[in-house]
Amino acid sequence: KKIGLHEIRREFIEFFKGKDHLDLPSFSLVPKNDKSLLLINAGMAPLKPYFTGEKIPPSKRVVTCQKCIRTADIDNVGKTDRHATFFEMLGNFSFGDYFKKEAIQWAWEFLTENLQIPKERLWASIYLEDDEVYEIWNKVIGLDDSKIVRLGKEDNFWELEVGPCGPCSEIYVDRGEEYGCGKEECKPGCDCDRYIEVWNLVFTQFDKDESGNYYPLKNPNIDTGMGLERIAAVIEGADNIFEVKEIRKIINKVEMISDKKYGVDPKADVSIRVITDHARAMTFLVSDGVLPSNEGRGYVLRRLIRRAARHGKLLGINKPFLKDIVETVIDSWKVEYEEIKEREGQIKKVVQVEEEKFQETIHQGIHILEEYIKQILEHKGEYLDGEKAFKLYDTYGFPLDLTKEILEEKGLKVREDEFNKYMEEQRQRARKAREEYTDSGWKKGSPLEEIIGYDVVFRGYDILSLNTEV
Ligand code: ATP
Ligand code: MG
Ligand code: MG
Ligand code: MG
Repeated sequence: KKIGLHEIRREFIEFFKGKDHLDLPSFSLVPKNDKSLLLINAGMAPLKPYFTGEKIPPSKRVVTCQKCIRTADIDNVGKTDRHATFFEMLGNFSFGDYFKKEAIQWAWEFLTENLQIPKERLWASIYLEDDEVYEIWNKVIGLDDSKIVRLGKEDNFWELEVGPCGPCSEIYVDRGEEYGCGKEECKPGCDCDRYIEVWNLVFTQFDKDESGNYYPLKNPNIDTGMGLERIAAVIEGADNIFEVKEIRKIINKVEMISDKKYGVDPKADVSIRVITDHARAMTFLVSDGVLPSNEGRGYVLRRLIRRAARHGKLLGINKPFLKDIVETVIDSWKVEYEEIKEREGQIKKVVQVEEEKFQETIHQGIHILEEYIKQILEHKGEYLDGEKAFKLYDTYGFPLDLTKEILEEKGLKVREDEFNKYMEEQRQRARKAREEYTDSGWKKGSPLEEIIGYDVVFRGYDILSLNTEV
């Protein structure tokens, strides 16, 4: 069926409204009253209190399209066909109401009838010992045994650090051999992009506490998540999520500004897709009130802006350009997300200031890092000293991840323990200075204050550099 991204979103919401679901607008990317999460990364995340029973939901059935950020996927962006840092997740939820059977039947109905995806192309994965779900797929839906794969905890048990969780069943679309890795054992769950996971149906039966204990929930719930960009790519037959028509407009804009054609040089294509993704992420982050800083959410934003700016450099763009890309993003999503239009001026300003700040030092910084790299390679070394990485951070505003990324391209690494030692020393100095000058009354939000917030700063780095799901 020929429908685009915005129409699929609407069709999904209408479908579940027709099944008595209450339609709620997307929640902010910034979690409310949830210290376990830096940014909303799934449709269920802002609904947690309804799952745990802490709060009474406005309806036992809810449908949403939720803005999500997954920094853990950042290294995949532009490289796989299916990963973005910012994406929209469609979801239907049951709070102690319907369970596995309805969730599977409705998902199947939506995909095969509303979107008219040929049944032969659909596969399902289930959690190892979940025979109940096997029976539903096989007997109720009529999905052939050969199209049902049993996967382990890593793929088919959905959980965040704490909170509601449970086994799940994922629906995959076979995009054809030409997208595959060619290995004989290639099937859903394979790392390649042939079988693209579009929808995850989570059967939330447990609540996990901080020490990793699982408690059965009084009322089992349903939490589903379908990536809007992925399903749009499937419907349009696009090669990857960034080539979905609506998103492709951003690619076109990058082409125009960089004077590089998309689809010619694979390396440039990665940069173009990274900019496309990050531009979406920064637009929605700023519109939800995040500002660039050195900790937490602000660091995520800073890293995205700087990373996009650097990929702009790689494309040969020699002036600040991100605010123009942001404008294209706003034009495409302003109807569905009014907040980005309302805050257009602010978003552009924040992005521009951060980009300019980075421009001032990036030239020097990259030049210095290249010198370092040359020296390391000459001495057949493998590592950049922590002290040098720290200098790049401290003097030239290079987030550690950026330094790591540039080094990785040459097969090199940073001595991170050393880097952390310098960071810690700097914090100690800052703390001492603060103790000495308590009466001077630093203004809230001064750069010094950011450096001093030890716990938060550390957590920010921890999360981002260890690549744990946030
Ligand atoms: P994958 O295995 O492909 O990384 P996932 O299992 O991590 O996906 P879930 O946590 O199950 O994804 O999220 C539910 C749905 O959200 C996925 O089925 C997919 O359609 C979509 N999704 C997940 N991560 C991304 C991403 N980084 N970019 C775009 N869509 C995503
Ligand atoms: Mg994933
Ligand atoms: Mg998966
Ligand atoms: Mg999944």
